Amino acid sequence: MKETLKRILKSLQLYHPLQTAYRSTLRSAHNQLLRLTYAKYKGPGFECNFCGASYTTFVPEYPTPDIKKAIEENHVIAGFGPNVYCPNCLSKNRERLIKCVLQQYASIKEKKILQFSPEPHLHRFLKETAFVTTADITPGFYRHIDPNIQQADATRLPYPDESYDILIANHILEHIPEDTTAMRELFRVLNKKGLAILQVPYSEKIIKTIEEPNIDDPVRQAALFGQKDHVRIYAKEDYIKRLQQAGFNVRILSPETLAPFRIHAIQENESVFLCDKNI
Ligand SMILES: [Zn+2]
Repeated sequence: MKETLKRILKSLQLYHPLQTAYRSTLRSAHNQLLRLTYAKYKGPGFECNFCGASYTTFVPEYPTPDIKKAIEENHVIAGFGPNVYCPNCLSKNRERLIKCVLQQYASIKEKKILQFSPEPHLHRFLKETAFVTTADITPGFYRHIDPNIQQADATRLPYPDESYDILIANHILEHIPEDTTAMRELFRVLNKKGLAILQVPYSEKIIKTIEEPNIDDPVRQAALFGQKDHVRIYAKEDYIKRLQQAGFNVRILSPETLAPFRIHAIQENESVFLCDKNI
């Protein structure tokens, strides 16, 4: 019954808009509740770099039981922790990190930016001053963030060579079976002097990337890779090697380098992978 209804809604192109409206209502109710609950934590400690609110603690997020083993046994740096969401605007640690990095290491004003699977707060920040194109393989999920989002397969990007100054693929490549093809495509569309920020969940514990590119079993994917739509957990050094083999010069910003940004409640043990063409 549920599947039949889903099919009918999809055929009428109503499935994604209805799902988006439902999620948005839930998100908004959840946000109101969080603001009330966290009012007592207002004060110095962590400061959101999107809305400016300060709290002694942000909202935590920990792995659910179905993914806990994969995340914890492999020590995956995946965005979980005690201070993930801003209680005021619900920005996520991984969005706040990208904003910090862009402000410190890039100039985005009037730049052409390609943002994959746009996260709402980061997207709003980018489009204040830059020319932003958004893209996703399933754009319907993101229309509420950018009505003009384009359908694009990262392994066959519909953009000319060297057409973007900045690429932001924040937790994208771990979803893509042919990730090395996608990396070469990212390299191709990046300008000679451009910058790509390509964050993924990764592990410093495992030596070899754990992956099953052709897997199509959400329950096993959650158990093996820590999310129902991931196809791998990258070993850090292997991830860097794959980016280099695609042509990128990879600069690592270590957790120590990023320490001044901790006031914005970023994940403290995460490195950032800044990629360019070294030309
Ligand atoms: Zn905020």
